[in-house]
Amino acid sequence: MGILDLLFPKTCLGCGKEGRYICENCIDKVKTPKPVCPGCLKSSIDGMTHSKCLRPWGLDGLTALWNYDGVIRKAILALKYKYADEVAKELSNYALAAIKTYNSSFLVPASPAGRPNSYSLVPVPLYWYRKNWRGFNQTEEIGKVVAEGVGWKFIPDLLVRHELKVPQTALKRKERLQNVRGVFALNSSYALNPIPHTLVLFDDVWTTGSTLKEAAKVLKRAHVEKIWGLTLARGIS
Ligand SMILES: [Zn+2]
Ligand SMILES: [Zn+2]
Repeated sequence: MGILDLLFPKTCLGCGKEGRYICENCIDKVKTPKPVCPGCLKSSIDGMTHSKCLRPWGLDGLTALWNYDGVIRKAILALKYKYADEVAKELSNYALAAIKTYNSSFLVPASPAGRPNSYSLVPVPLYWYRKNWRGFNQTEEIGKVVAEGVGWKFIPDLLVRHELKVPQTALKRKERLQNVRGVFALNSSYALNPIPHTLVLFDDVWTTGSTLKEAAKVLKRAHVEKIWGLTLARGIS
């Protein structure tokens, strides 16, 4: 234990117990949402998009590890602050463990022999106001740990982001989709390289889905064939 731990002991963001930011007791209380189709948000096997909901540039499925609730919500909100590195580290470990035990035909980790499968994880680039105090995108850091842990390639810079005119949080559901239109682009340095066949598009929270859907559209237009949305949490509305 370092001197900083003595001066500022870590306490659980959920219950205040000392030791870590996310205690096991609090994370066990946050439920895993039932898998839903990202098109219609009705239940579907493994979160696969229903065939009638498939769109040419849409997501092929969606997995959210937790409800956006309890200690998970508090931890995701805390990713902007000074102790963000530590919170991100704890969240990464929990996310990795959750993915490894997640019973889904899509989220298949690398084989025991360590042979990576053919997926690549691409984090959704953040808006400036959601980066932390050092300008870091903690979601990207979590995505990296997850990708390495399950043997996926990690491509943090496949997408680039333009600034939004209006913060998403200031808008209603319908306006959000309009607001993010054209906000992402394919990184031009990938234009001549082969684009991955199957991608896991990673973000912290699925709220209306407008951000993930817009990012998926750009990637599918660049000829990515399958895109699965993976988020730490899904908003419960
Ligand atoms: Zn706790
Ligand atoms: Zn559907």
